[in-house]
Amino acid sequence: MAPDRPVKVAVLGSGPAGVYATGALVKQTDFPVQVDVFDRVPTPYGLVRYGVAPDHPNIKSIVSVLHDLLASENVRYFGCVELGRDVTRADLLEHYDAVIYATGASVDRHLGIPGEDLPGSYPATEFVAWYSGHPDARQPFPLDDIESVVVIGVGNVALDVARMLAKTPEDLAQTDTPSPVLTELGKSTVHDIHIVGRRGPEHAKFTTKELRELGELANASVQVVPAEVAVDPDVELERLARTNVAVLQGWVENGIDDKARRVSVRFWLRPDEIVGTDKVTGLRCERAVLDESGTLVGTGEFETIPADVVLRAAGYRSLPLPGVAFDDANGVIPNAAGRVLDAAGNVSPHEYVAGWVKRGPTGVIGTNKSDATETVRNLIEDVNEGRIAAGPALPSFDEQLSARGVQVVDFAGWLRIDAEEIRRGKAEGRPRSKISDWESLISAAGS
Ligand code: NAP
Repeated sequence: MAPDRPVKVAVLGSGPAGVYATGALVKQTDFPVQVDVFDRVPTPYGLVRYGVAPDHPNIKSIVSVLHDLLASENVRYFGCVELGRDVTRADLLEHYDAVIYATGASVDRHLGIPGEDLPGSYPATEFVAWYSGHPDARQPFPLDDIESVVVIGVGNVALDVARMLAKTPEDLAQTDTPSPVLTELGKSTVHDIHIVGRRGPEHAKFTTKELRELGELANASVQVVPAEVAVDPDVELERLARTNVAVLQGWVENGIDDKARRVSVRFWLRPDEIVGTDKVTGLRCERAVLDESGTLVGTGEFETIPADVVLRAAGYRSLPLPGVAFDDANGVIPNAAGRVLDAAGNVSPHEYVAGWVKRGPTGVIGTNKSDATETVRNLIEDVNEGRIAAGPALPSFDEQLSARGVQVVDFAGWLRIDAEEIRRGKAEGRPRSKISDWESLISAAGS
């Protein structure tokens, strides 16, 4: 029997997974809910705000859907609250009937090759955080006197960072890119951008629409090595591989032109070492092939691509949350369809997980909707079958947070930041200009 008192749920993370989970909770009609959504930063929407490239406004328009869900009557937003610093897992379990962890995957996957820590070698996530205006990003991202950049990986993040490196402030004039980022990009001396895949074009993870955009850059020409984009005509490819290969092969005839920048998309080059003594000077790769068993093997032939900066775009990785179970090998919170499992593999009552920290860093934004819905379906079942929220209402957590001096940015505070960014954008002749430092964000939230 479902309780007739509101079931209190804490959602950790206000990216698509957390907000879609919130939406699924407020839209169900089995029992009343009160959902408190927590985020580490003042602003909601996670990777939609701090991951989707600024020149992809159509993808970003999903914000209006997320806004409506967060603005629901029985939902409250708590920005600037961090698990482990301001609240503990025990606090949440004491004050909420259920906790949904939806904290995403915030760091890069390591390559495990020499030179990864040399100055000039950065996770692509750092560059993304910078151009997206994340308040924790390195400011400014070091692009001074850089001529050649290697991007490791052939996923959509690699394409995003390569495209952003190739674009000029004029190309980005109508985006929400923070003004200091536009200024730095205007000074960029980057000429060569090499995107390097360890396997073939038919194995690339990027999507064809994003790949095509490389060929449409006003300021950069795109090149491929004909032999590297050739595929066995007898092998039938799946749709994504087929369309990607067709786009890449369409660039075979591209010659050198007078555009200021050049993007080369390379394949079958397995990173072997990021070379340099006190800073990066290149990426040494071993030419690779797939053996009969489908394993990638080196051929003993090496090539060093000169580079001043190496951006590692080999995928994201989730970090363990303080006190919460974590499966290190797979980089996720262990779970059965969103119900968190303890070390013995038993369901840990009251704890749920959604999004990248549940299934790993794959899929598009919309994938998180079905993912979060599955989690919430199980949470609803647990309530309906009396496994959680069966007792009297739990105490409020609000007093504890203020007693600890936590300076929460609530939804009204976020709306003030939003309004200030739109105001700044208007003054600069664009829809929005993002605020990218903590002090100004907090000040805008309170003003
Ligand atoms: P991803 O799609 O998993 O691509 C990672 C790339 O890194 C792959 O090419 C992979 O090659 C390569 N890689 C992994 N380990 C490597 C190693 N040790 N050495 C060399 N290369 C290595 O990851 P992502 O690009 O970070 O994207 C994450 C998710 O966000 C994806 O689902 C993506 O579609 C999504 N996303 C979407 C958009 C968009 O829709 N516009 C934009 C950004 C991100 P192998 O295949 O050989 O492992």
